[in-house]
Amino acid sequence: SVVKHPSAPSTMMNAHFASVGENASREAYEHGIQVIDEDKVFNHDLSTYLNIEHIIPAGFNYHLISVFGSQSTGKSTLLNYLFGTQFGVMSEQERRQTTKGIWMSKNKRDADGKNMAENILVMDVEGTDGRERGEDQDFERKSALFALATSEVLIVNIWEHQVGLYQGANMGLLKTVFEVNLQLFVKDNKSIPKSLLFFVIRDHLGTTPLKNLQNTLMQDLSKLWSTISKPSGLENSRIEDYFDFAFVALPHKILQPEKFEAEVVKLGKRFREGYADPKKSGLMDDADLPVFLPQYHRRIPADGFAVYAESVWDQIVNNKDLDLPTQQELLAQFRCDEISREVLIAFDEKINPLEDRQAADARAGKPTVLPELGETMRTARSTLLKDFETSASRYHKGVYKRKMSELESQVDSRLKTLFQKQLAAAHKTAIATFTDAVSATVKTGQKKGSTYDFADIVESEKSKAISQFESDAQAITIDGAAWSDFSHELALLREELDDVSTKLRKEEMRRLATRIERFVRSHLDESISLEFNKLGSGRGGSGAPEHGDRPASEKDLWDRIWTIFTSTVEQAESRFEDRAKSFAATSQEVEIGLWRLRRKSWVVLREKLDEEVMEGNILLKLRENFEDKFRYDEHGVPRIWRPNDDIEGLYTKARESTLHLIPLLARFRLSKTDSPPPLLAWIGDAPAGVSLADEDEGAGIGGVDDDGKTVEDEMIVLSDAKAADLSVRFKKMADGVYVEAKRSAIGGVTQ
Ligand code: GDP
Ligand code: MG
Repeated sequence: SVVKHPSAPSTMMNAHFASVGENASREAYEHGIQVIDEDKVFNHDLSTYLNIEHIIPAGFNYHLISVFGSQSTGKSTLLNYLFGTQFGVMSEQERRQTTKGIWMSKNKRDADGKNMAENILVMDVEGTDGRERGEDQDFERKSALFALATSEVLIVNIWEHQVGLYQGANMGLLKTVFEVNLQLFVKDNKSIPKSLLFFVIRDHLGTTPLKNLQNTLMQDLSKLWSTISKPSGLENSRIEDYFDFAFVALPHKILQPEKFEAEVVKLGKRFREGYADPKKSGLMDDADLPVFLPQYHRRIPADGFAVYAESVWDQIVNNKDLDLPTQQELLAQFRCDEISREVLIAFDEKINPLEDRQAADARAGKPTVLPELGETMRTARSTLLKDFETSASRYHKGVYKRKMSELESQVDSRLKTLFQKQLAAAHKTAIATFTDAVSATVKTGQKKGSTYDFADIVESEKSKAISQFESDAQAITIDGAAWSDFSHELALLREELDDVSTKLRKEEMRRLATRIERFVRSHLDESISLEFNKLGSGRGGSGAPEHGDRPASEKDLWDRIWTIFTSTVEQAESRFEDRAKSFAATSQEVEIGLWRLRRKSWVVLREKLDEEVMEGNILLKLRENFEDKFRYDEHGVPRIWRPNDDIEGLYTKARESTLHLIPLLARFRLSKTDSPPPLLAWIGDAPAGVSLADEDEGAGIGGVDDDGKTVEDEMIVLSDAKAADLSVRFKKMADGVYVEAKRSAIGGVTQ
């Protein structure tokens, strides 16, 4: 049994076990223990004694016999013979009372065979003929109550010559026993526990056969029974309803010592022989039958006996109504609480470290999945419940069941906390593992430049995370505990994994968008530069191009730029769409991505245009354009100026032609329609789910949508002021070229 040392303080008594060496203690209890002393004080060392005698773990496997009888009728002597005890006996010379109060001792005779009764306790009750206690019937009544509340068998010790003396002291005692028995067991109990009254007739001379003595006694007892007042409803009850009777006669100890001893040995065996076969009832007829019957047992578990006995005595001594069922319930409560505390010690030893571990992990912000948790929880719980059941189920059933469920909910609330913290850790781990695994796989995929399937990666990592969580959770479930169902937590994990997946996919989409934008940027950078470079070469056109007959490179500049732009973006869009498909992105997400791409691309183009028309760049282009027209003839051959040449005319034409480029450049206009490109239609409406209020989105198109800026404004490449300024600068520059040409013409003549 787990309950070895119930040592918790109690209101009913101080169950207290001395920790002295067992042998020393055995010596101290050589004569047994005085359970109740002559001042009616209960001995708190009873449980110590029962522990030393190894009675505590016996459950119901123990027996209690009490002896009653007049003073100095050889009761202690008898017990010592029967059970090898060492109760004090009166010396033949002194003849003074020796046994005071109530003594108890364990049977010292060996169990010399199979099926022998174990753990026999005998109580030697102070003689009660009133000679030495005067007319004090109080102790007699109290000790009778106590013996009946606890003992299976009451030995009534009587001289042969007292048989038939109806008025004698013995009958007074027996009357008390009967009354007390009715008080104890009839009042509240539906099932009446029987007790055995075992009459031992001493100094049997043999002239009167035992049978006759027995009959005389039974008649007297019946007569006695009829005189005692019985509770209503029990007026007609018979004495046999409450008591079994057995009789034995012993020869004279002094006169027939050998015979006495032989009979005592036989009798002792019957007490130690274990349970009689209940079918063979009738101890009265067969003098060799064993004495004990299971129905005599008071059903007080051995580990609760001391508490029970003290509490019963406490009631008796204070003249309170001794209500045994209530006593048994109180005992059950007390002992169940003690047993709970006891089994919790082992539970704590296993569970506390895990609780500490989780607390430490929580403080460190690193909840971890403890691999041993499930096994430890299951073992600790089942051990606790099993140990509690073993010890506590012997007590009052109702109390036991209530205490069991209290204990169960107490430990389950702790286990549930452990369980849920572990689930939280498993959840966190699953999310982290998932996120890391997806990111890592994507990174490797990008490094290798392979076209990894993002959606596949997500799905396979998700199912890995879920099955890991499931196995973590399964490992800590406890059969039969409703709280260890984790389907809700699993659903939460799935939800969060979906959220994380969406987040990761969006990040992946953004990365893709960035890559695609880079492609657009570099593509436009190159091809737009090329278009602007073409402006620089006016060659191939006539030396004096007429107004409205400009080279294609100039006339169609914006048409070509728009075409280049839209086809570049189209290419980018199809790349984007292709990749996004492998993410299992939603069509809405793709729509948004494409829409953003178009807006960003326009911004890229505008930046590129701004770069091209930066003062230095555009002036250089205009200069080249002008020089090509001014300094090369219609065949593309450089002119050598001569004094007769119409330098001025050529200069004016070339200058005007180039000057006309400035307004052309200043506005992004398609030549066919002579209007801005259909930018807004091309970009399209913002797909559902995009908020233009987002900083992210609003900035996208260079502010067409906000700031009240119109598409017209967006198409201004050079402001009027800038254009005017550019014209001035260009003219100055052209003038310079003209002057130089003039000089070289004159210089050429002088040379
Ligand atoms: P108790 O007071 O009933 O416990 O009696 P004791 O066991 O102390 O014995 C009282 C006296 O009776 C002692 O002197 C014993 O030696 C003596 N005695 C014990 N057994 C018998 C017996 O069977 N017959 C007789 N005649 N005397 C006995
Ligand atoms: Mg005695």
